[in-house]
Amino acid sequence: MSTHLTVGQRALLEAALLRSQYDLEEQISQQLGGESRPDHAREVLLQDGDDATARDADREVDLARSDQDIGELRAVNAALARLRTAEYGRCIDCEAEIAFERLQHNPQALRCVRCQTALEATGGQAPRPTI
Ligand SMILES: [Zn+2]
Repeated sequence: MSTHLTVGQRALLEAALLRSQYDLEEQISQQLGGESRPDHAREVLLQDGDDATARDADREVDLARSDQDIGELRAVNAALARLRTAEYGRCIDCEAEIAFERLQHNPQALRCVRCQTALEATGGQAPRPTI
């Protein structure tokens, strides 16, 4: 159960994640619409049990844009879930501790800088970690 992050640091990261989550949900609910992708949207939006965000999930949609946001929202939701475990802040590849400074810039980071860099060098595309 031990973690290198202090309670205060985790609280800061959680606040940052919750803010990203809120912003992304706002953007997605503005973009999603019609009958186009309600299931897709709901699948993501309901992950955290927040149905207020599903309210606008029936308008016209910019697919490419919302897919990107949905991907980010997924990463943010996953990070929030991890934050409640001792796994958060640990590299999923080498289990090294991820520096708080890195997490501040990218609270949903799944890998340490070394593994992330290696991943990107070997054909990983996105600088943002995705699930
Ligand atoms: Zn690593």
